[in-house]
Amino acid sequence: MSKIRIGIVGYGNLGKGAELGIRQNEDMVLAGVFTRRDPSKIKLMTEGAKAYRIEDAKNMTDQIDVMILCSGSMSDLPEQGPFFAASFNTVDGFDTHAKIPQYYDAMDKEAKAAGKVCVISSGWDPGMFSLNRLYAEAILPQGHNYTFWGKGVSQGHSDAIRRVEGVVNAKQYTIPIESALERIRQGETPEFTTREKHRRECYVVAAEGADKSKIEHEIKTMPNYFADYDTEVHFITQEEFDKNHGGLAHGGFVLQSGKTGLNNENNHLIEYRIKLDSNADFTANVLLAYARAAYRMNKEGCSGAKTVFDIAPAYLSMKSGEQLRKEML
Ligand code: NAP
Repeated sequence: MSKIRIGIVGYGNLGKGAELGIRQNEDMVLAGVFTRRDPSKIKLMTEGAKAYRIEDAKNMTDQIDVMILCSGSMSDLPEQGPFFAASFNTVDGFDTHAKIPQYYDAMDKEAKAAGKVCVISSGWDPGMFSLNRLYAEAILPQGHNYTFWGKGVSQGHSDAIRRVEGVVNAKQYTIPIESALERIRQGETPEFTTREKHRRECYVVAAEGADKSKIEHEIKTMPNYFADYDTEVHFITQEEFDKNHGGLAHGGFVLQSGKTGLNNENNHLIEYRIKLDSNADFTANVLLAYARAAYRMNKEGCSGAKTVFDIAPAYLSMKSGEQLRKEML
């Protein structure tokens, strides 16, 4: 069986996760890593694999079946996505939710013109959470859907704290409020305020001599980021920060509570939970499963941009249809 040749664009957390993930998929092989940095400075973990300048990719269209786009969603993917869609099947984890429709249009245009399949906004949210929201709502239309994130690190909120004067380093954890989850599990369908769903915990390294109470006040009252939440601020040393807050753990829940029966007497609960030691590794593994789908769908003559909603689950699996029907149905 010939293997699916995977290229990785962007070698940050997600790119490294994808490189490791390929090892767990025996139908895949790493064809190369593409970076904007000097490739000679990039140390790969895969024996025999090579890093290339991103510009070299255009000469390697016959050596790569699917490009996994691992660059940042904010400013990299809106540019790199359509560029790669013009020559490759691609998969990405574009997660700027508000801009997904316009990103889809840009990717669809290039992918259709090139006859390629480009899976956008895969990962876990968007991605697996989106799928679970859709399944749950389709199955229990008389119901309420809830998404909770965490416990996990929010890069955006950590960045916002680092911009406060006197802050040297910071990590912010988003934490779901257990009593809110419990109410849904008990069959209630509450309308929560922002504050009732999540709280925020911040670990901050302050500069020597900085006014800590001023920093704490500025964080807790920051509009859009913290003002609508119960926020705890803990000041720690750089050593504690390095020792205890280096990880990229994340997770979350998608819940749907619904009712059926003549008098809505039957309660139902769907709960999907993920608890991740490494956000990046997990996201990368989702992207790889969708790379398999992109490859197969393109072989069948399909083209255009696709989301997780458009891809049948069997395309994700290494197993044949026959095997799936026998072992997993
Ligand atoms: P990251 O580590 O910041 O990497 C982003 C890019 O920055 C890399 O591709 C790399 O590009 C560059 N970079 C990384 N390390 C560098 C260094 N030491 N020096 C200079 N440049 C460096 O971001 P990430 O954690 O991999 O996440 C990538 C994106 O995935 C995020 O923007 C997020 O939107 C998305 N994501 C989605 C989901 C989801 O569920 N859908 C989940 C998690 C993340 P070059 O190699 O070209 O320099």
